[in-house]
Amino acid sequence: MLWMLLTLMSVGALPLRPPDLPPQPPTGLSEADQKFAEEYLQHFYSYQSESNRQKRAAESDKDLDQKTGLKENMKKMQHFFGLLPSGELDAETLAVMKKPRCGLSDVEKFGDKFRWKSSTVSYRIPDEHLPFPAPQINRVFRAALKLWSNVALLKFHRRKCKNADINVAFVSGDHGDGAVFDQRGGVLAHAFLPSADIGGDVHFDADEEWSLNSTGTNLFVVAAHEFGHALGLPHSADIGAIMFPAYYSEPNYTPQLSFSDVRDIQQLYGTNPRFNSRLSKWSPPRTPEKCDPDLSFDAVTGLQQELVFFKDRFMWRKHEHFIETRMSLISSLWPHPIPSSLDAVYENVEMNFLLFFKGSQYWKMRQSIVQEGFPRNISDLGFPSRVLSVDAALHFREEQYTVFFTGYECWRYNEKQSVMEGSPTLIQEQWPEIPAPIDAAAFYQGFVKFFKGNKFYNYNFSQ
Ligand SMILES: [Zn+2]
Ligand SMILES: [Zn+2]
Repeated sequence: MLWMLLTLMSVGALPLRPPDLPPQPPTGLSEADQKFAEEYLQHFYSYQSESNRQKRAAESDKDLDQKTGLKENMKKMQHFFGLLPSGELDAETLAVMKKPRCGLSDVEKFGDKFRWKSSTVSYRIPDEHLPFPAPQINRVFRAALKLWSNVALLKFHRRKCKNADINVAFVSGDHGDGAVFDQRGGVLAHAFLPSADIGGDVHFDADEEWSLNSTGTNLFVVAAHEFGHALGLPHSADIGAIMFPAYYSEPNYTPQLSFSDVRDIQQLYGTNPRFNSRLSKWSPPRTPEKCDPDLSFDAVTGLQQELVFFKDRFMWRKHEHFIETRMSLISSLWPHPIPSSLDAVYENVEMNFLLFFKGSQYWKMRQSIVQEGFPRNISDLGFPSRVLSVDAALHFREEQYTVFFTGYECWRYNEKQSVMEGSPTLIQEQWPEIPAPIDAAAFYQGFVKFFKGNKFYNYNFSQ
């Protein structure tokens, strides 16, 4: 990464020390949780505890092998989902395991032998056991299939009565294919790879609260994903891809294929010539990469022992004890209604809340729950109406105040009294080395870090 690192000395700033880290809460995981996690890893990560036990019953290192296997699989799962790859089951890993997802494995690679021979693929939607009236369902499925045929050499043909390549069904519990649905939540749907008979078929769990918008589980998003399998695609480790295995609801996000989805389906079926001619108008969104030399951030905050970087729908988390920076979707940690493309975020450790800013609105969150009455207008914090958004927020834990950056100005907000103190000052006067306006700021390990474009500036207060 070509970030420029400057170590600057402060002028007339208050001495600061790294925030005391709160003790880690007890994980409180039960045996049932452990069992759930093992089953999850068996199902989605090919963890073989049962067969290991039988095969290696006579071997003395059996327990050790099992534990290592479990740990390695746990790490694989944690890596896939942007969690700390500790190999241990912690509360956060368990929470991600319990999130709604697709029923297929995350580690199986299909190769290119699973594809339909013809570029015209038929599908069939039944008339009964549908969660919505048939015309609505047909519209949703047609749109989900169109995502794929827009970019690849594929045509979809609907059949009314005869068996088709892709047979859709809403079913619950044990429905005869060996893959039992688990009532509401957990596994939402599964699909079979292209082949004869059940191959290509897509099953949705009828016990889910399906929706056509963002209130429940959005049928369009899940259908687009499952049709990807029905066409031969495996799960993608690209968290921005439709083929990522977990389901996250995101407000105001229109699902679309990512760059990697488009590349993968075109590898199987070739490129739709109309897609090439439209390239100048629409190109599939690429998931940002941390090694991109032009990467900039929307917001950055210290959070417990981590530094969290926000960009569009994504975030990276850097733990002080781990070298690896982990990526996830904002919505995987802070669900609806925290929006994407945030302007600023900060944590107030003493008062135990996080504030998220976007445009003229801000949200207060405590223990992952957005507080009642939010979002509010930033004018409630004491900004005049001419301030339309906040560029960055920097929280000083010891002194219990927060500095907000807006354009060329900065504002000091007294957290204890909940008031903006005095008038704003120019950033240039307070922090002469920092090029205003800035993108983000955070306090981490005794340094203030300012972010602007693809550069960051380390500001050392403790002289
Ligand atoms: Zn899937
Ligand atoms: Zn099934």
